[in-house]
Amino acid sequence: MNNFDLEGRVAIITGGNGGIGLGMAEGMARAGATIVIAGRNANKGTKAVSTLETLGATASFITLDVTDEAACHQLIDDTVSTHGRLDVLVNNAGTNIRKEPEEYTVAEWRFVLDTNLTSAFVCSQAAYAAMKKLGGGKTSGGGKIINIGSMFSLFGASFSTAYAASKGGMVQMTKAMACAWAKDNIQVNTVLPGWIDTELTRGARQDVEGLHERIEARTPAGRWGRPDEFAGIAVFLAGSGSDFVTGAVIPVDGGFAAQG
Ligand code: NDP
Repeated sequence: MNNFDLEGRVAIITGGNGGIGLGMAEGMARAGATIVIAGRNANKGTKAVSTLETLGATASFITLDVTDEAACHQLIDDTVSTHGRLDVLVNNAGTNIRKEPEEYTVAEWRFVLDTNLTSAFVCSQAAYAAMKKLGGGKTSGGGKIINIGSMFSLFGASFSTAYAASKGGMVQMTKAMACAWAKDNIQVNTVLPGWIDTELTRGARQDVEGLHERIEARTPAGRWGRPDEFAGIAVFLAGSGSDFVTGAVIPVDGGFAAQG
């Protein structure tokens, strides 16, 4: 058996129209998966679909705001009715509002928590029935949920109260769901990206003086990461190679979290 073959599997990636999500989608597409990407920006979505199609994948884009609970359910339902199954869900959509804790409004706090954490809960809950159908009672070929955390799942920073709360919560939610759904042969894991060059962190580099250099100095690999460096972990966590890996928290960070 090839543990890295995703032929016949169907994967949804929220926020898969750019950045880390697209890097993961490209990896899974090359491994043979059918890809459904979902996000707000349809222009980015259309471009991402053509990129995935040039890799030989069946790919589509569904417009989605992950803070809309009904739309998350619709995404799962539409995917299952179009493709007949759902094997992999990547809860990747994320945002940040960078402020000192005393400056947040409650609406801003909720916006970050709803986008990063509640959406992952809602999409996972919506995916459960379809994934259970795949995997119940078997030891392989079950459902795979891949949550995207952050170095702020582990560490804090003065400007990251809401974001760190959401990403810390992602880890604990992952562990709880992994325990609950192991009986249904659904594996739930979290990937913790280090500092990766994307739209999100381009904003951070503008807002936080000296950030770019501090990250280079602190990361043992001596550089920022790239979205395409998430292809490998995505294929591993989406495929049979990870059938006994669940509740895990896996940094992909050039050693950032290992540095004392
Ligand atoms: P990007 O800004 O490139 O990607 C974020 C994606 O999330 C976008 O494609 C965006 O789609 C989508 N998104 C945001 N809000 C919503 C929403 N309400 N509904 C639907 N989609 C939404 O940044 P990254 O690739 O860096 O971020 C991806 C994930 O990785 C996030 O969860 C982020 O927190 C996490 N991460 C990133 C790190 C980094 O260094 N880059 C480090 C640690 C974690 P659209 O444009 O269509 O809204």
